[in-house]
Amino acid sequence: MRVHSLTVEQALASLNSSSTGLPAAEAARRLGEFGPNLLEEVEQRHLLLRFAQEFTHFFAIVLWIAAGLSFVAEHFDPGQGMARLGLAIVGVIVINGVFSFWQEYKAERAVAALRRLLPHRVKTLRAGEISGILASELVPGDIVLLEEGDFVPADCRLIEIAGLRVNLSTVTGESLARARTLEPSAEESPLQAKNIVLAGTSVVSGQARGVVYATGMRTEFGRIAHLTQTAGEASSPLQREIARLSRIVAGLATGIGVLLFLVGQAIGLPTWENLLFAIGIIVANVPEGLLPTVTLSLAMATQRMARRNALVRHLPAVETLGSTTVICSDKTGTLTQNRMSVQRLWIGGRMLSCGELARQAPALLEHRALFVNTALCHDLKEVDEQGRQGLRGDPMEIALAAVGRQLAGDLAGCRRVAEIAFDTDRKRMSVICDTPQGRMLYCKGAPETVLAGCSCVHSEAGVVPLDTAARSRLLAAQDEMAGQGLRVLAFAHRAVDQQGPPGDERQMVLAGLIGLEDPPRPEVPPAIARCREAGIRTIMVTGDHPRTGLAIARQIGLISGEAPTVISGEQLRLMSPTQLQLALDAPEILFARVAAEQKMRIVEALQNKGEIVAVTGDGVNDAPALKAADIGIAMGIGGTDVAKEAADLILLDDNFASIVAAIEEGRAVFENIRKFLTYILSSNIPELVPYLAFVLFRIPLPLTIIQILAVDLGTDMLPALALGAEKPDPAVMRRPPRRRGERLLSWGLLARAYLFLGIIEATAAMLAFFFVLDAGGWQHGQTLDRLDPLYLQATSACLATIVVMQMMNLYLCRHPRRSILSYGLGGNRYLLLGIAAEVAVILFILYTPPGNWLFGTAAIGSSSWLLAAGCAILMCALEELRKAWLRHGQRS
Ligand code: ATP
Repeated sequence: MRVHSLTVEQALASLNSSSTGLPAAEAARRLGEFGPNLLEEVEQRHLLLRFAQEFTHFFAIVLWIAAGLSFVAEHFDPGQGMARLGLAIVGVIVINGVFSFWQEYKAERAVAALRRLLPHRVKTLRAGEISGILASELVPGDIVLLEEGDFVPADCRLIEIAGLRVNLSTVTGESLARARTLEPSAEESPLQAKNIVLAGTSVVSGQARGVVYATGMRTEFGRIAHLTQTAGEASSPLQREIARLSRIVAGLATGIGVLLFLVGQAIGLPTWENLLFAIGIIVANVPEGLLPTVTLSLAMATQRMARRNALVRHLPAVETLGSTTVICSDKTGTLTQNRMSVQRLWIGGRMLSCGELARQAPALLEHRALFVNTALCHDLKEVDEQGRQGLRGDPMEIALAAVGRQLAGDLAGCRRVAEIAFDTDRKRMSVICDTPQGRMLYCKGAPETVLAGCSCVHSEAGVVPLDTAARSRLLAAQDEMAGQGLRVLAFAHRAVDQQGPPGDERQMVLAGLIGLEDPPRPEVPPAIARCREAGIRTIMVTGDHPRTGLAIARQIGLISGEAPTVISGEQLRLMSPTQLQLALDAPEILFARVAAEQKMRIVEALQNKGEIVAVTGDGVNDAPALKAADIGIAMGIGGTDVAKEAADLILLDDNFASIVAAIEEGRAVFENIRKFLTYILSSNIPELVPYLAFVLFRIPLPLTIIQILAVDLGTDMLPALALGAEKPDPAVMRRPPRRRGERLLSWGLLARAYLFLGIIEATAAMLAFFFVLDAGGWQHGQTLDRLDPLYLQATSACLATIVVMQMMNLYLCRHPRRSILSYGLGGNRYLLLGIAAEVAVILFILYTPPGNWLFGTAAIGSSSWLLAAGCAILMCALEELRKAWLRHGQRS
């Protein structure tokens, strides 16, 4: 019999389980038998296939053709070194492919590692004890406890439910929440059975217990997972821009190559030699390794963000974070500590502080109903996850229940029979309890919603009708507490007569108000100040009272003006989208008493104003806003599974300051990519100029094609990667956010790389070349054999100079405007590693026989090194002057 056609007892028995769950030893045994509750990842593409793809993409094919042509040239015109060039190009393809593959693999691993940082935990009942275990450890027969916002971790037959509704869209495609029952079902398929919850679906509301009957790939979701697993990450706009950029540059390089070939032909260069140069120019300028380097720097940024408690779920989110202009943040737990303590009470018409409360305990007994209410009206659980005794749940309810238990007296005869759950729309909750005085309803919630259901109030004179005067006294008391930043809750009760509807929250007696303090997180005020400096607007969107929100906003420095705009959920409901958009022009604005559903409207209004919006959320109802925002941010500790799934970023510590840290890293990535672009592009000019000089002035070729390849694919590669790992510059948060659609490759960047740094490097390289030739007695017009020691030394000096200049350039590229003196040489150990690699490669090329043979070089003397060092220092000085001029221009 299928498990859904059995009764609860039969279902449990058929799985050899019971309502108290499996014993630990049996669970362990079953884990061995059935394996972990995981969906096997479908290997998207075999690793070998992906490796092969690194050698067959567009650039690689261009290079293969180039290599092929070289070998053909060798065949027709042997002895010109064409075969060696062909081999070198093949080497380039191989090195590039392996390096790209390594970078992509590393990036992928980095992103996969992030997922493991936030394991999916579930509550189970084993041997009668509730404990939190990893979802992967679930076995058939386990009892799982589900509540609002949870993802169902395995296919379960329900055994207990309370107001349970589930969203089945991930399995059946229908998005309406569906109620569940316990009765055996006559349906053929478990997909239709109403007493089943399937893995991958989520709990929209209510609570339930279910017995697991299928795990991992045996679940319905597992069966369809093979079909739906998406093929990897979507590429980010930045990655797409880089891909586009690479194609443009490749096209351009090919154009220049062809042009130079034609010029060469026109001035009568030997055809094969000419062809060789054209190929060299193309190879030198095609930015083969750019895309994987960018992907890797994005992935490295996600790791840095994770260390700062912000977990990115998709790579594209890294760059969106960098351009965020507005953060809409919840208050409780994100801006505040979510450590609640009862501070003040309004009871019997009097306001008491916490100290007075303790002193007046006996006198308070006449107001016992208030404390019975706080002791009983909550959603707390008695045991915590590790099985230790204590209250677990919402910190506010814990604080209230503690005061209740202390002051309510004997609660032995009280038993809870039903609950009307809290939701952000109603802003209140009620429980119905059997007490020695009969059946009672206890209600607590936001004062305005509770007050609406009250007809009487407990005052100095006992229970009196809640008339206008009493109401205004009450509201004044609320305002006073809220004005101090306290969260105010009202408490009311009524006797439930057996006839009337028990859940009716009307005709209640208001027992009193309680003000709770939830201090701001100490890190928040500086984080808000940083946001302001960074041109990012922070807007508090709270479910709390406007005054409470405002008081906290002032405490954390979010609002300082006299007349901020405060919009309540009520007002928001009446506003048209246009009105809301206009209201958002106010310099200081705060949203209070907002329901989760309304967040979405705020997000959309901001987006319509052209803002890039980050929004926080934790509940099921927050999911639409999290999805709609440019960056949805879920709470790692307090958030539900559903919110986390909808989010782009998860805060491991629920802290607002971590959002700001993530934005800083996001901005830094963009800057870093610009840094290594500048670095890589600079060396293209000293690679091109020697060839132009050779063609135009009929001098010996200062830099051979193989040497160009040595720079592009040997010495330049690792340092570029190191620039991608630069830490955020402190000034990155002092600038306004990047404009939407701002290009990575700006004219400024191109001019700096090509026309300034590149030209200086090219001049130095040519100087080094002629310096050696001149010292060797060379005269203009004199031809030198390709193996002439003087020529070998001269081209070696040219190559060495470019490498030395690039070493200096590495440090110059660390910042486009700031002086090297202000950031120095430290702070990024990868730079030193990059330099070390560069030194090793150039020494190999110049001072070892295989290096000399392959690259056509010879050892050079100390004077050449000195000249190169001198040029590098001069370049540094010139760049410093340029930066100083730029800074001066910015100030004035
Ligand atoms: P934020 O949205 O900034 O985190 P919040 O936690 O106050 O603020 P909600 O959780 O939407 O927002 O709560 C809205 C209001 O509902 C609270 O201000 C409080 O008056 C009331 N409330 C919150 N939790 C409970 C609860 N467990 N029982 C009864 N009322 C509650």
